[in-house]
Amino acid sequence: MRLVGGEEAVSIVRFLMKNPSKSDEEIASALGMNVKDVRRILHKLIDHSLLTYEVAKDKETGHRIFRWRVQQDQVLGYIKTQIRRMAERLRARLEYEQSHQFYYCGTKGCRKYTFEEAVDKLFRCPACGNMLNYYENTRTIEALKQKLQVLEKAI
Ligand SMILES: [Zn+2]
Repeated sequence: MRLVGGEEAVSIVRFLMKNPSKSDEEIASALGMNVKDVRRILHKLIDHSLLTYEVAKDKETGHRIFRWRVQQDQVLGYIKTQIRRMAERLRARLEYEQSHQFYYCGTKGCRKYTFEEAVDKLFRCPACGNMLNYYENTRTIEALKQKLQVLEKAI
């Protein structure tokens, strides 16, 4: 959901799960948001089939009112797909980290280079000019493994 419309999308979905069949205005006032922003996010969520709506007519003004509901199975499916994708990306990154040696100048903001790249640069960082030294990436690998474990539990 965060990917669809940020934290605000998350709060709208959460609100509609507890309070189905609310209108744009009701959502906006309950969450202290601008109606325009609410509508923008509702449309994004609709694009991903995460919501459905009914159209009613306001008896006094004759205006159409949209009442929104969360498609619970769609939301769950969507979240699972996102988690699976994140896990895939992490797995690829982990494989990359495990199968390469890295060289790093130690300067904050500079990138790390693979052995092949470091040879290419004659073990000098092209950004800051310092020496590129062997960089132990076991901590990166551990951190990736932990993140992956959390995601795999969630699926
Ligand atoms: Zn550097």
